[in-house]
Amino acid sequence: MANRLRRLYSRTEAEITVVDRDDAHVYQPGLLFVPFGLAHAEDIVRPRQRQLRQGVEFHLSDVDHVGLDDQHVTLTDGTVLPYDVLIVATGARLQPEETEGMTGDGWMENVFTFYDVAGAMGLHDALERFNGGRLAVNFVDLPIKCPVAPLEFAFLADWYLHERGIRDEVELTFVTPLDGAFTKPVASEHLRSLLGEKHIELVTEFNTGEVDAAGGRLVSYDEREVPFDLLVSIPLHGGCAYVGRSPGLGDDLNFVPADVHSLQSKAKPNVFVIGDASNLPASKAGSVTHFEGEVLTENVRRFLAGEDLDASYDGHANCFIETGFHKALLIDFNYDTEPLPGHFPAGFSPAPLLKESRLNHLGKLMFQWLYWHALLPGRDIPGIGPDMPTSGKVQSG
Ligand SMILES: Cc1cc2nc3c(=O)[nH]c(=O)nc-3n(C[C@H](O)[C@H](O)[C@H](O)COP(=O)(O)OP(=O)(O)OC[C@H]3O[C@@H](n4cnc5c(N)ncnc54)[C@H](O)[C@@H]3O)c2cc1C
Repeated sequence: MANRLRRLYSRTEAEITVVDRDDAHVYQPGLLFVPFGLAHAEDIVRPRQRQLRQGVEFHLSDVDHVGLDDQHVTLTDGTVLPYDVLIVATGARLQPEETEGMTGDGWMENVFTFYDVAGAMGLHDALERFNGGRLAVNFVDLPIKCPVAPLEFAFLADWYLHERGIRDEVELTFVTPLDGAFTKPVASEHLRSLLGEKHIELVTEFNTGEVDAAGGRLVSYDEREVPFDLLVSIPLHGGCAYVGRSPGLGDDLNFVPADVHSLQSKAKPNVFVIGDASNLPASKAGSVTHFEGEVLTENVRRFLAGEDLDASYDGHANCFIETGFHKALLIDFNYDTEPLPGHFPAGFSPAPLLKESRLNHLGKLMFQWLYWHALLPGRDIPGIGPDMPTSGKVQSG
């Protein structure tokens, strides 16, 4: 957003400041590959400041709170930043401590998450030491970032264990609170079949209440158990703590309620929200954040010009799902249309939807380049915008 707005406004027209608590920008989709040795931490982390256009101020500090009425952001280093427009873009926070036992003695021993750099690196070492037994992959509850990433991890684990020649020695289980492999019925059915083909056991409607690392048990609230030797868990997610310290800004989970089409917050007209920090019913995904960015840039412009906002964001999300053995699926959907089979972005395109292909796998790998060179600089991707394309999709029935 800062890069987009910097292009839109000259320095005399607008001062633009980015606040972040650290200077290490992680390409988070790359975290999936680190445990399997397919990426290294140093490949996916870059200095934040270098991603910003000249003329964007960068302030390194945690946010303490936002004062909505007097229009200022107070930072933990004592700085007070006044604003005319505030864009909340502080993402989602992992909360492993919210699940009983998860961060106990087994944390980073036989219980891991790959959702941050330290966890992904620790899991890499643990997988290298793993020579057979029960490997369980679980996410505790939605919302989580990239809801397909746990499935991708299970598919890649199947591939990795094959490569090491120990797949037959491992019981691989995917444990989900959902009633199927995924949230939406058509995709859920495709992904369930794929899990079956790969002999990955699917355990559904499992609401994790406790992680018993010493006993090697995942225990649900209704007292079902899944045994494990190695647990890969995606913890509960919440919004940032400072949102909770900013009266009127967030909801109970510290996500920021906003208009689902314009991204204007419910709290104040001059506060907008983008990406994982919002409580929108869109996926928490980088693609969503990018598409929202196009609409939000226009809305900041309209707001400052006193014009009506553009209420056109349709929830468009687009995601490659790595399935192992150098293949991937592609899903494309929005608030109203679930992921459907077909081709993306149109019927003649070689990229199949909801079907494994090598081209989709190459697309997944290419996404990293696109991320650093198009998404972060805030450039539009020609032909792939915030409006979900409908022409290549096949409606069943
Ligand atoms: C393992 C994994 C795989 C993924 N795979 C995909 C994928 O294949 N495709 C896809 O589209 N998306 C994927 N995602 C999701 C994607 O990475 C996120 O949706 C995206 O990064 C969200 O962007 P954001 O700007 O909203 O939040 P973030 O990128 O998380 O940025 C939030 C920023 O806020 C800063 N911050 C937080 N709190 C404070 C504070 N109090 N003070 C100051 N600064 C603060 C943080 O340091 C951070 O820089 C994946 C995520 C993970 C974890």
